[in-house]
Amino acid sequence: NLEELSGLPPGAVSHFQAEGIESLYPPQAEAVEAGATDGDSLVAAVPTASGKTMIAALAMLSAIERGGKALYIVPLRALASEKKAEFEAYEEFGVSVGVTTGNYESTDDWLATRDIVVATSEKVDSLVRNGADWLSELTCVVSDEVHLIDDRNRGPTLEVTLAKLRALNPALQVVALSATVGNAGEIADWLDAELVASDWRPIDLQMGVHYGNAISFDDGGKREVPVDGSESQEDALVRDIVAEDASALVFVNSRRNAEAAARRLANVVAPELDADEQEALEELADDIRDVSDSETSTDLAAAVEKGAAFHHAGLASEHRSLVEDAFRDRLLKVISATPTLAAGVNTPARRVIVRDWRRFDPTAGGMAPLDVLEVHQMMGRAGRPGLDPYGEAVLLAKSHDEQDELFDRYIWADAEDVRSKLAAEPALRTHVLATIASGFARTRDGLLSFMNETLYASQTTERGRLESVTDTVLDYLERNDFIEREGGNSSTSQSAADDPFTSAADLAAEADRDVELRATNLGHTVSRLYLDPMSAAEIVHGLESADARPTAMGLYQLIARTPDMYELYLRSGEDDKYGQLYYELEDELLGDRPSEYEDDRFEDWLAALKTGALLKDWADEMDEDRLTERYSIGPGDLRGKVETAEWLLGAAETLAAEIESDWSVAVREARARVEHGVREELLELVGVRGVGRKRARQLYQVGIETPADLRTVDKGVVLGALRGTKTAENILENAGREDPSMDGVTPVDVDHGATQ
Ligand code: ADP
Repeated sequence: NLEELSGLPPGAVSHFQAEGIESLYPPQAEAVEAGATDGDSLVAAVPTASGKTMIAALAMLSAIERGGKALYIVPLRALASEKKAEFEAYEEFGVSVGVTTGNYESTDDWLATRDIVVATSEKVDSLVRNGADWLSELTCVVSDEVHLIDDRNRGPTLEVTLAKLRALNPALQVVALSATVGNAGEIADWLDAELVASDWRPIDLQMGVHYGNAISFDDGGKREVPVDGSESQEDALVRDIVAEDASALVFVNSRRNAEAAARRLANVVAPELDADEQEALEELADDIRDVSDSETSTDLAAAVEKGAAFHHAGLASEHRSLVEDAFRDRLLKVISATPTLAAGVNTPARRVIVRDWRRFDPTAGGMAPLDVLEVHQMMGRAGRPGLDPYGEAVLLAKSHDEQDELFDRYIWADAEDVRSKLAAEPALRTHVLATIASGFARTRDGLLSFMNETLYASQTTERGRLESVTDTVLDYLERNDFIEREGGNSSTSQSAADDPFTSAADLAAEADRDVELRATNLGHTVSRLYLDPMSAAEIVHGLESADARPTAMGLYQLIARTPDMYELYLRSGEDDKYGQLYYELEDELLGDRPSEYEDDRFEDWLAALKTGALLKDWADEMDEDRLTERYSIGPGDLRGKVETAEWLLGAAETLAAEIESDWSVAVREARARVEHGVREELLELVGVRGVGRKRARQLYQVGIETPADLRTVDKGVVLGALRGTKTAENILENAGREDPSMDGVTPVDVDHGATQ
């Protein structure tokens, strides 16, 4: 019973009661037993949607009531805003909340006054690097989806961040929330935490496989779902559930498949809609078209009009939330999604259909089965507590054998173990440099002791492995001038040297332990900029090798080939196309060019050229639609690339200053052009609030080239260029014009040629 809980801020209990939470779910009660509200660390490994957030809330609120401060680490930016909205409700009983995600160069001191801070793991890592003082005041840290430590790209940051936060405050309470994984006990041991492991779910989950004309469930039950000759299994399963006035989620393995499935499923659900629903869906489709006029937007609106939608990482965030909200409101009947939707976003459905259980894996060079953990997380989205009598998760089989295989592989199987990925080189490079630069370790010995506190150290059994990979990374960092090593032969070694039983190898090893480690100025800068040291080395080298002012294209290709930018893939036939472009642009490209005989490096170089060309086209004012079509990407991807480029070029500008390069201005201009998506001549105009790339071009075409022109030119010319009295007035006002009013002004049509 909630009322029996003590140690929470007054008002918290009635707040939860008002939210419909009367008593704790069993895993929540176990967490309290294990000390969640007394400041004890714990790992809660429980299924999706079983109330993990409440466990975190109880721990955080009781920590705050004891005068402490809490940090909630989320794996995705999208989740940061979802959690913030959830915790902001606590403001009614006096708990303040702050969220921070972007900008990896600040310490965000304003957060010192907040009781709960929500941040991504990358952001927390950067706060540690920048020496944010308030981090040492934390008494409770929650790590959401801690099993993502297993993720090759992002796991190491989470792992190292947790280790550092614990080093900052050894008494820190760590509450790690995890999906059900194979080795939750091992994670608990690593964190010196109690383990709360449970299979309990608030709503019954039936798992099964559809084959032929029926679903066979894990409890032995069957449900007839016949498939018409011409339709697919998922079509039949969706129609069947929508006829019961419930909804379905269909997981597929690629964005294209998600879009294609939504197109077909729209025709399946359309006949089931009533007039009210149709009207509401048409409004929703209009809202979607209003977000952008891209092809993705048009396709999404077309599906939504019929009650279906697709969901993937290429969607704009406005599109994503429109779709998620309408699905939760039961207006949309079905969503076909890539697995990103399963990762944390709260959109349950009565029936989850896992259509594709294999996906293209570039490292395997072919299709590979999904992890059990991933499939379980998708399945866990089935069933809305309070709304559905139960949830159903269904896999699809094409044969009897496949049906058996799916039961063995996913339904009866336990999820994989979480394994640290810290030993992967890019991760280690980045984190070793950061650990030295932020003063966490000042000697090789100190560094090794810190590394010893990671999950990696507790999982690796090979003796000496941690030490040898660390040394390889130290060599790399020293070679590239990011760190300096000094000393190593201290006097204590002398007594050891006199000891006849000490071998020469032991002596050398002991001497090495005393080596002092110091980040150079360049190393400090790289760490603060949050760059992979290899990206920084590539950029520094590229800038140093330029003997004439680099072009925008040269700089775009340079940053595109760093490991911090995900390159676009080359499609078939594009080797030739970009090979051609390479020869045309060869003189503009910076750094050591690979020869055509170095297959992999050459291919990478061309892929970077393609990415660079995308950025250049954007900075040359090509329309968003044409860009997404030319490079076969979604509008969300375009934005992502542009943002990453802005960040990397901003970092390049700082690096240029650090190495006293002559090309700072060229880098700054290339960055500004990417930021605004304009050619050089528009850079002044886009500095005026309300003037984007399109309007700047329209103004320029009628001879208005600077903000000063906006203050003096004939108003009719401005109105002629912009067509929109309100817009024109706002822009004149933002440019600082004394009397921006357009009353009585008539637009002047200017002959573009004549004014330039
Ligand atoms: P998880 O983080 O485990 O996926 P959530 O914390 O999002 O799950 O919880 C899922 C839903 O269950 C939320 O809507 C939450 O309000 C509700 N919930 C959590 N705990 C309780 C409870 N003890 N009683 C009733 N509802 C609860």
